[in-house]
Amino acid sequence: MFLSQLNPDQHQNAIMALSGESFDVLVIGGGVNGVGAALDAASRGLKVALIESQDIAAGTSSRSSKLIHGGLRYLQQYDFKLVREALHERELLVSTLCPHLVKPVGFLFPLTEKFKERTYVGAGLALYDALRGFQRVMPWHKHLSQKQINEIAPSLRPDIIMGAIKYFDAQVDDARHTLSVARTAARHGAVIATRVSAESLIRNGKRVVGVNARDLISGEMLAIKATVTVMCAGVWSDELHANFDLKPGYNVTMSKGVHIVLPGSAIKSDAGIILKTPVSVLFIIPWADKWIVGTTDTPYTGDRAEPFANREDVQYIVDQANRVLTPQIKIADIIGVYAGLRPLVANNKGSVTTKLSREHTVDRPAPGFVSIAGGKYTTYRIMGRDVIDLAVNELRKLSPESVTEKLPLIGADGYFALVQQVERIADESGLDSQTVTHLLNRYGSLISEILDLIKADASLAKKLDADLPYLKAEIYYAVSHEGARSVDDVISRRTRITFEAHNQGLDLADAIAEIIAPVLGWSTKERKASVAAYESLVVRELAALDELLSESEKVNS
Ligand SMILES: Cc1cc2nc3c(=O)[nH]c(=O)nc-3n(C[C@H](O)[C@H](O)[C@H](O)COP(=O)(O)OP(=O)(O)OC[C@H]3O[C@@H](n4cnc5c(N)ncnc54)[C@H](O)[C@@H]3O)c2cc1C
Repeated sequence: MFLSQLNPDQHQNAIMALSGESFDVLVIGGGVNGVGAALDAASRGLKVALIESQDIAAGTSSRSSKLIHGGLRYLQQYDFKLVREALHERELLVSTLCPHLVKPVGFLFPLTEKFKERTYVGAGLALYDALRGFQRVMPWHKHLSQKQINEIAPSLRPDIIMGAIKYFDAQVDDARHTLSVARTAARHGAVIATRVSAESLIRNGKRVVGVNARDLISGEMLAIKATVTVMCAGVWSDELHANFDLKPGYNVTMSKGVHIVLPGSAIKSDAGIILKTPVSVLFIIPWADKWIVGTTDTPYTGDRAEPFANREDVQYIVDQANRVLTPQIKIADIIGVYAGLRPLVANNKGSVTTKLSREHTVDRPAPGFVSIAGGKYTTYRIMGRDVIDLAVNELRKLSPESVTEKLPLIGADGYFALVQQVERIADESGLDSQTVTHLLNRYGSLISEILDLIKADASLAKKLDADLPYLKAEIYYAVSHEGARSVDDVISRRTRITFEAHNQGLDLADAIAEIIAPVLGWSTKERKASVAAYESLVVRELAALDELLSESEKVNS
């Protein structure tokens, strides 16, 4: 049995394996599609390695709307196959693959007109529910009376909202889920190495037989040998195709999507809200005791690693939400902002990005090299399966079929039974039941590993900050088991403090660095450098918000 633990020792071993061994499959990219492909291949019994140039989920896979959904708006495009496939994945994730991470969430679809809109939207939601087939983990949609709307969502403006329909989708902490897929792949033998960047291909004639990659920590080059290389580089695809001197069958257009985060008190509603906008839809999504509101959809050509929101993005979201909300949300309410880049597969140059399909494309631009891009988070498992189905043709040996439909992620095993034992776990551990529930929803049955840390050092049972749910043990665990290597990894992806706390959690950076420094073997200088690196990221990320805040202060003064 292999270990799912990712930490500095495992990283060292991974680097040695990458340069000393040869693999059936080498995956480039540790977003949800890359780790999904690695898990698919490893669970078929193949020898797999995955390299990620930043951190697991550092690209688009930590910056989504965090919805596991069929995609209501694809119904409008009559893309029933895509919706049915995504709804099947949604049911599978909620019921079997990772019920500790993917949870049902109710949404209100407010109606501003009494009859025509209700018939149209009602028919759409009936179709949405019907496309699930017989798997019914979530309730059927429901038409609400005015009284019910007022009770559920007092923040919806009664002067313009004539009705509403409630339906269900699911939500996930995307970065945590991507990490869980990576750790599950590691448990099935995949060698996972972050901060290793693919630079060029190793060729034998026309055939690609591996990748020259740089270990970004040591600066050394690694020649990684693999029978087939699988590229899952999202919005980096075009750049890598060019670096690798490949002629791909598709191009990837980037579209920026921004979200803002508000305190729970800013909007009074017991359900999420979906709004039609002139270009797309806007989601108001419950996120523990906060709201995530977004998104935008604008063409983008800037830095792929650091997409930032600008003042227009933030103002657009506030204006759209305020069309239906009372009291109105204010710029000063905003706790956090984040931006992500959609990888849209484009066959025709010059297409408007909102019209491109979210469906994925697999490609084989050279013998020994396959790639995948596009799609959406919800269908990562299908994308992993499809690209590995293509990759195994290169192995020239019989390979088993994908088994990921029947393969729960680490932490899923026994989750439903543990939920029934919250009080007992609380009694035995000395934690309160709210904290136990918080831990179960993040680690599932791996809660035992967190509790072991607390048993060994009781000070780790304390909260990192009174206003946030995270224990110090979780910060420690992020580096001892979850492969975090920097303050940014912990604040932005192992926890979501980056958008859950004011100032993007900068005030907690020192405390976090202190907890993780011994595990990472940092000197004082290295510790300070990691805090400083996060600080410079935050300054750039908060620029748009600061600009808007000072403008609104001027208007109000
Ligand atoms: C604003 C927004 C909202 C969204 N909301 C939803 C939603 O609610 N539901 C949904 O289903 N989908 C949603 N999506 C879509 C979904 O998030 C993406 O389709 C998905 O995350 C893409 O994953 P990926 O693995 O292809 O790309 P990424 O996550 O970007 O992964 C690519 C990885 O490749 C790495 N890489 C790049 N170059 C190299 C190199 N040279 N060597 C090694 N590694 C390299 C990068 O560092 C990166 O980590 C949303 C997208 C956006 C932008």
